[in-house]
Amino acid sequence: MHKWFLLLSIRQRVVLFLTLVLSLLIIIFGFLKGQGTQADTNLSVGVDLSIRQIAPELGVTGKALARELSLPLDVSKSKQLRELNVSPDELSHAAHHLLSHTDATAKYYVYVALVLIGFVYLTFLGRPDGAGVDQRKSWYPRLPYILVLIISVGIAGFYLGKSPNPMEGIVKVFKSMVGLYPDPLAKVMAFIFFLILAIIGNKLICGWACPFGALQELAYSVPMFRKFRRFKLPFVFTNTIRAGLLLLMLMLLFGVVGGREGFVVYHYINPFNLFDIHFEGITVLLAVIIFLIGSFFVYRPFCQLICPFGFVSWMVERLSISKVQIDKEKCVQCGACIKACPCDAARDRVYGRHLQADCFSCGRCLNTCPVDAIRYGCDFSMKSQLDRQPRG
Ligand code: SF4
Ligand code: SF4
Ligand code: SF4
Repeated sequence: MHKWFLLLSIRQRVVLFLTLVLSLLIIIFGFLKGQGTQADTNLSVGVDLSIRQIAPELGVTGKALARELSLPLDVSKSKQLRELNVSPDELSHAAHHLLSHTDATAKYYVYVALVLIGFVYLTFLGRPDGAGVDQRKSWYPRLPYILVLIISVGIAGFYLGKSPNPMEGIVKVFKSMVGLYPDPLAKVMAFIFFLILAIIGNKLICGWACPFGALQELAYSVPMFRKFRRFKLPFVFTNTIRAGLLLLMLMLLFGVVGGREGFVVYHYINPFNLFDIHFEGITVLLAVIIFLIGSFFVYRPFCQLICPFGFVSWMVERLSISKVQIDKEKCVQCGACIKACPCDAARDRVYGRHLQADCFSCGRCLNTCPVDAIRYGCDFSMKSQLDRQPRG
């Protein structure tokens, strides 16, 4: 890390400084803008009121409140909840859960700042200007990445709570379609926001900013478990499960199977509840425990096997502006980057496979190549890097 910083050119140090200042300003602006938009979690609602009276207070539709209270979506919205046999405890639990989904506005800005840092680091700073292959061990040190991950977990996770997050970003769009949110356009906009961040740099929102992704990445980075990490989940297997689960979710949500419109299967395994320290059922707690313990041994099991945003962002990876690129002319297929990669992403790129596994822009492969054939960048930055003559 120290050597890396010393090798950076003046231009790169200026870029680093400006990026950090800009990121800080974005975060501060986000917190200032977010003030006063926090949900009133002390809201007082009672069972002598109807769904129609309570739902607007919680910022949801009557259908969403009915679903949360385990009532049919078409239940009478004008009856008192007492008449529908809803107890005060059940109402309080439902209200707490719905309010926990209220987006913390500042978090959108934190995501932007973290993605910006990831983008600049991987594209312009990880490899010092002019450093030759003999100095490649000084390229892309892990410490800046680990620090960003800790910020993601601490601020975008535990400090600001579970919402918004990329996974819910896509699920809420589908929930809007069955009338569970009063503002479908806002949900679509939030999803587009996450998708744009995924496209700017290959899944940078997942690799650098999503708090549950960061927690899994940190667990996987613990050195003492390194010798147990021989197993990579085959992409065909993980992606089939991930896609199948999304399909199942849609069929259940729209009542095509199960006959219970509005049923959201992810609700029962949503690990983002961890950031509110609020587990609504044993399945959620179990999911958090299983995926976190699993992350010490397998790379991002929740992202690879379950997350619907992981699946959707994988589909748009080819549109990414900045990503891992392999110079096929130089590559001698030595396998060094494939070995360093925690999933099938590097392998699929080296062999130019049509179906390529998700790359989480973790940067592990970028300092491994003996012939300098692998880089991270967009076309214009690649060109400018190639134009600079190596020193070594
Ligand atoms: S794939 Fe992983 S990192 Fe990306 S949104 Fe889902 S949980 Fe977060
Ligand atoms: S190591 Fe694999 S996942 Fe990480 S940046 Fe390289 S190709 Fe992508
Ligand atoms: S490390 Fe370099 S030469 Fe070896 S397979 Fe990867 S890109 Fe090709």
